[in-house]
Amino acid sequence: MTSYDYDLFVIGGGSGGVRSARVAASLGNKVAIAEEYRYGGTCVIRGCVPKKLFVYAAQFHEHFEDAAGFGWTVGASSFDWKKLIAAKDNEIARLEGLYKKGLAGANAEILETRAELVDAHTVRLVNTGKTVTAKTIVIATGGRPNPHAALPGHEFCISSNEAFHLEELPKAIVIAGGGYIAVEFANIFHGLGVETTLIYRGAEILSRFDQDLRQGLHEAMAAKGIRILCHDTLESVSKQEGRLSIETLKNGTLTADVVMLALGRIPNTEGLGLETAGVKTDERGAVVVDEYSRTSVPNIYALGDVTDRVQLTPVAIHEAMCFIETEYKGNPTKPDHETIATAVFSQPEIGTVGLTEEEASKRYKELEVYRAQFRPLKATLSGRGEKMIMKLIVDASSRKVVGAHILGHDAGEMAQILGITLKAGCTKDDFDRTMAVHPTASEELVTMYAPSYRIRDGVRV
Ligand code: NDP
Repeated sequence: MTSYDYDLFVIGGGSGGVRSARVAASLGNKVAIAEEYRYGGTCVIRGCVPKKLFVYAAQFHEHFEDAAGFGWTVGASSFDWKKLIAAKDNEIARLEGLYKKGLAGANAEILETRAELVDAHTVRLVNTGKTVTAKTIVIATGGRPNPHAALPGHEFCISSNEAFHLEELPKAIVIAGGGYIAVEFANIFHGLGVETTLIYRGAEILSRFDQDLRQGLHEAMAAKGIRILCHDTLESVSKQEGRLSIETLKNGTLTADVVMLALGRIPNTEGLGLETAGVKTDERGAVVVDEYSRTSVPNIYALGDVTDRVQLTPVAIHEAMCFIETEYKGNPTKPDHETIATAVFSQPEIGTVGLTEEEASKRYKELEVYRAQFRPLKATLSGRGEKMIMKLIVDASSRKVVGAHILGHDAGEMAQILGITLKAGCTKDDFDRTMAVHPTASEELVTMYAPSYRIRDGVRV
């Protein structure tokens, strides 16, 4: 029998990689994990976690304004970008430490180096040039922002990576894209006082979300003062007298201090030795995997964003846990990518799970759509004009709730709970017989008794 240096070698110390290494090691396997940048990966180091901290920071000016309606007089306030960055960096360093502590506690060997495949069982550690062997290998190298190299002047632009470490808060920013990152950062920068313009090529931002929420969020963002230019793209970016000049297809020339591209993310597979090892990739460079996350080489698995299935942290973690079941517990388990609850941390937030109205109308003969739009209680005294939208999409024949969509405060928190109900296959009748929690915004979800409208054979009736 061949003997290897390790039972498992994991390339990439992000959400999927760390989870597989830690759990495999805790089961008594000899495990090593290699990371070329920082443990924690995109989510912890320059993604979800620091982004959410920025979202909190960006909300304070509205809290200060709202306070007046409740009798408070708030003194002069000011914001210090450098203080926020330092506090955020401290927290991220603490979390990175916890990731490493978890790995070390499980007896996984932590390597601070890039690692590349040499063959199906051999990995080269780039820092030392040393090669090691492993029975099983996991590729969990994640992704990176699409640099949009075809754009003249793309080298003057930043991505979300740099947004977390800008030396100065810009006075004006132009953000290209209409997805999660573009929308979230437009709200963050605007909330921190930056003049913000969002440019999106399509008809409405957030193309994969329910139309009602897309429109509702667009209107709310525009009302706050975020300029949203749809049906437009960047043509070129150039530097002029210390500022950036941006040529757009439809809206002429814009100027800004920072241009941020948020045009999707691409898998980190270049130079990984995949071809040499026989691991197949697709036309986007993503590692091709089967339903068990196994690559074209049976002892090599790939998890998370590098496979370009669903680019979300909890999905990478779930895929890692399925890998553990399959490889180490004799229980072959396919990741379940159906009905994933998700949130966009815009202001107001989006929380959503299941099918959009458009998707559901293609899949089901008849739908009942329950829709409520209302002013949340807090806004009555604060005077804020924001509206909440809640929407349930119900398959009329089975009565199952197949989509739930919320725009408004804490929508992300609500989406998590709704995710359980949709996953469990709850019907509208289950929602109806659930007692409301009063007074909350979410009680609306169980008090919408009559459908707002129906959709039959794809047509609203
Ligand atoms: P998204 O896929 O969400 O959005 C990419 C945006 O770029 C879309 O609006 C897309 O337009 C546009 N786009 C793509 N190519 C071009 C092009 N050539 N020219 C002009 N526009 C273009 O990606 P993000 O970069 O925003 O985020 C990456 C991933 O990270 C997301 O898919 C998400 O899964 C994850 N993420 C999750 C978050 C969360 O859970 N809250 C937060 C941030 C990121 P179109 O829609 O027309 O294709």
